[in-house]
Amino acid sequence: MRPPLLNPLFAPVTSLSGVGPKQDRLFRYLLGRDDTPRLVDLLLHLPSNVIDRRARPKIQDAVPGTIVTLDVTVDRHRPAPPRNPRAPHLVYVSDDTSTAVLTWFRAQPGYVEKLLPVGARRYVSGTLQLFDGMPQIVHPDRVLDEASFAKLSGIDPVYPLTEGLALGSLRRAIAQALQKLPVLPEWISPEVIRRSNFPPIAEALNRVHLPVELADVLPNARFWSRLAFDELLAGQLALALVRAQLRRPAGDRNAGDGHLRKKIIDALPYALTPSQQQALAAITQDLSQPVRMLRLLQGDVGSGKTVVALLAAAAVAEVGKQAALMAPTEILARQHVKTIAPLAERAGLRTAILTGREKGKERRELLAQLEAGEIDLLVGTHAVIQDDVIFRALALAVVDEQHRFGVRERLALTAKGEAVDVLVLSATPIPRTLVLTYFGDMDVSELREKPAGRQPVDTRAVPNSRIGEVVEAVGRALKADKRVYWICPLVEESEAEGTEHLTNATRRYESLHQRFGDRVGLVHGQMKGADKDRVMAQFAAGEIGVLVATTVVEVGVDVPAATIMVIENAERFGLAQLHQLRGRIGRGAEASTCLLLYSEPLSEMSTARLKVIRETSDGFRIAEEDLKLRGEGDVLGVRQSGLPGYRIARMDVHAQLIAEAREEALRIMKSNPKLTGARGEALRCLLYLFERDEALPLIGAG
Ligand code: ADP
Ligand code: MG
Repeated sequence: MRPPLLNPLFAPVTSLSGVGPKQDRLFRYLLGRDDTPRLVDLLLHLPSNVIDRRARPKIQDAVPGTIVTLDVTVDRHRPAPPRNPRAPHLVYVSDDTSTAVLTWFRAQPGYVEKLLPVGARRYVSGTLQLFDGMPQIVHPDRVLDEASFAKLSGIDPVYPLTEGLALGSLRRAIAQALQKLPVLPEWISPEVIRRSNFPPIAEALNRVHLPVELADVLPNARFWSRLAFDELLAGQLALALVRAQLRRPAGDRNAGDGHLRKKIIDALPYALTPSQQQALAAITQDLSQPVRMLRLLQGDVGSGKTVVALLAAAAVAEVGKQAALMAPTEILARQHVKTIAPLAERAGLRTAILTGREKGKERRELLAQLEAGEIDLLVGTHAVIQDDVIFRALALAVVDEQHRFGVRERLALTAKGEAVDVLVLSATPIPRTLVLTYFGDMDVSELREKPAGRQPVDTRAVPNSRIGEVVEAVGRALKADKRVYWICPLVEESEAEGTEHLTNATRRYESLHQRFGDRVGLVHGQMKGADKDRVMAQFAAGEIGVLVATTVVEVGVDVPAATIMVIENAERFGLAQLHQLRGRIGRGAEASTCLLLYSEPLSEMSTARLKVIRETSDGFRIAEEDLKLRGEGDVLGVRQSGLPGYRIARMDVHAQLIAEAREEALRIMKSNPKLTGARGEALRCLLYLFERDEALPLIGAG
């Protein structure tokens, strides 16, 4: 139960004055929530910048592209002509150096006139632009008269916004939310407070949203840092609480005598690499310990994680228990089954697949078999965590590409068995700090070497202007019976809604289809599962030579015969994603080529990214460079790079705090593992505020 103390913060934003259904919709979008955001969500939406109204340049000296505050006199209005209400309303203003224009689109009649009476002196803030050589501010952020201006601190926070949401209405909502902030107990220990000079949370929130000095809103200053520490502590504590439940009943073991593993290994057409063997040994060891396994198996794309996972499942089956493998996409789940099933069969291991596509009778029968223990390994998507999926004896949960799943999903899966061991597979090498952030204390196995016979991929960057030559080259490749991936970025992607805008991919498909006919296929995330499979199968069989795809092929798809990849608008992809994509080729014995098409001009960041990806195929180096690069893009010292899943803490600024939060969480687990007493109650508040309360039912009421 949520401490009642927090109720005011969990009131919906629509309870604020000035926040109606339209604002509700905008706030949902802005704050990334499916339902109406609560006040706490607003308060944890921190500024990205500030306007310093104490610096007031003359119009002549104001720098275009910057946020400025001008001290001006209103000269004249030019409202939109009645016949053309879509034209802007212009207001000409001046100081003793020059003239500027303030512009409103679709202003309410009379509104602008009232705000800026001719002859009056006004302070106007906003982003200055040059329009036909004339300094202009479109929709000024604030227009104040002298009296109101004098009342303000001179510093205004600027927030990330979304189209249709005015800065002013967000600020007003946040100011109201601050008023409702209850007196919260302190959950951080006195030592840490002292050492880090953290202010109380209320002061931190107030100063970040209503800064007194420019430095108040900087992520590395004490106010923001306090909030980042809170967020990180909540994350670490939640992980530690889960971890503490990971003891298994005495005498219970999840690995058998190895007879099934031996059968599978004997049936493999290749030998396990040394690091696969080491990983398997570590996993088997874990499965036989009194503490449950929480292990991350990291290995670059193509390093052979699937077979290790299969062998882990076999170990579990040796003692008559079941395993589940959860993959993030349907394509990947089916891919896994395809690799796994023939090997599993030889060892007498019974596998099945469960995705959104299995329905009706088929699904019912499958679930009955699962419950009867007639399936040893269930492979699937999110569908495997549905409530009616019941295992007879689930003992091992393998979660592929974990960063796409949250702690919630992992818990939901492990809740389907008793003392379930967890193996997480990740193709993106995760730096140590991030492992801590997302998994807490987790053991790590790495597959460092690639299976024998892999060829390095020749990677080149090609400007878009030369796309004609690239198409020619694809034609030659088709004639030579080669297989080509042609990857297009999504114009816009909203994973929450599960929709993709496919303009790029469909257009490219049409133009290539015109040229090469039915040797060209298209696959994207909005296609039905069966259609996707069919196209992928045609590509694997060589009936299709060019596969135009969105990033659905990114994870795990295995067509060893594919040797060429064209990535359109490569500059729009992140480093990790480029690396993942490129990992689809270079899987067979033949040499492979990856062409990165980019549109000019390239930003410095994109240039650097393309350079890294051309120079190396070492996933660990790429991950490190990625972190470094993402640390850049600095506005006023306010970094843009966040930690996925974290709203406040930032990798680059708060790396040190991650370790400190972890230590604090460990101290808490030692002294007060059930979160009892006043401090325990305070910590429960913290977990609720940051939505890390999912582990609380595990430890019961304080
Ligand atoms: P990933 O780590 O990306 O999940 P996979 O498990 O899909 O990699 O393996 C990629 C390919 O490598 C598969 O076709 C698999 O059969 C093959 N493979 C796995 N281990 C070895 C090995 N030790 N030697 C040769 N090929 C291997
Ligand atoms: Mg894989």
